[in-house]
Amino acid sequence: MALLEIDGMSVVYGRQQAVTGVSINVGDGEAVGIVGVNGAGKSTTLNAVFGLARKRSGSVQFDGRNISAKTPEEISSTGLGYVPEGRHIFSTLSVRENMKLARCPRGEFQSNLEEMLDQFPILGERIDEPAWTLSGGEQQQLAIARALISRPRLLILDEPSLGLAPQMVERVFAVVRRLHETGLSILLVEQNAGRCLGLVSRVYVMQKGRIVKEGTSLEMANEDSLWTSPKGGPA
Ligand code: ATP
Repeated sequence: MALLEIDGMSVVYGRQQAVTGVSINVGDGEAVGIVGVNGAGKSTTLNAVFGLARKRSGSVQFDGRNISAKTPEEISSTGLGYVPEGRHIFSTLSVRENMKLARCPRGEFQSNLEEMLDQFPILGERIDEPAWTLSGGEQQQLAIARALISRPRLLILDEPSLGLAPQMVERVFAVVRRLHETGLSILLVEQNAGRCLGLVSRVYVMQKGRIVKEGTSLEMANEDSLWTSPKGGPA
């Protein structure tokens, strides 16, 4: 049974159909990608899974439980972590204050924070500095650490490479790869298909709100629809 199972999900914004009948699954311990050009519906899909966009139809199961109607807080407590597009870091707050905003079981914050600082030493070095002083890649690490503090079983990342210098992209992807190797399941949205294929074992291609192709990374490497994005070339 899949850890995450999205079945026939549709999302409408006003009169615009943003996502239509999307079905995606992620197995326990698996890393899965969703690729597609701007406006394909990737972020909307993730937001709807996490209860941040209203589903018109379809269902979402996580670890065998129906989470379709749950709030983001409830979803987070079931074991789903979400790093949204744009990171959503509070730039005037310190690294520690940003971490405190994470959803974390009462009484576990300090020990979980220490574990995160072990994993992301740069955050420990900058713990009391305002987040705006961090580079883009460091802010992305902060966003990932903040999502991990509740100890999720599945981490959902929306375009973690967005706006980062190539060297920083490399660093962030190395972090995600390491997390996956320790057993964390990953659902990764990326416009950069080359980067995505290098990390995940299966990939879904979205176009105009629908899944138009899916397959293993090996199968999809030669799939034309994967490379339609101007940013989609191999990294
Ligand atoms: P990007 O890579 O640019 O984030 P995406 O594949 O994630 O693109 P979405 O952001 O999910 O695509 O957008 C899907 C469609 O829904 C687009 O046509 C977009 O303009 C529209 N859309 C997204 N968010 C909203 C919103 N809050 N209100 C209205 N329409 C929206």
